[in-house]
Amino acid sequence: MTEKIVLDDDFTEKMSDWDESDVGKRIVKRVTPNGTYFNEIIVHVFCQFCASEFIGPAREAGGFLGGHECFHAWEVSQAIGREDGLVE
Ligand SMILES: [Zn+2]
Repeated sequence: MTEKIVLDDDFTEKMSDWDESDVGKRIVKRVTPNGTYFNEIIVHVFCQFCASEFIGPAREAGGFLGGHECFHAWEVSQAIGREDGLVE
């Protein structure tokens, strides 16, 4: 019984520059300074606040979403600050 991973359409060899055609595929192995990722899926996500889009590994998508959420929360805090009297 063989346990070989079959490389078919569900996997991509690309290590960067992912686009719509790669969404749903998996990266067999991706080496980064922070660690090595195996069988990571490529996803397409967007920011619900500003509609920016991202296509890439799920880990990076999480960073994209978290980064935007953090940024937009900051924007809101700035807007509230202005309403409290810090108008230019
Ligand atoms: Zn955003």
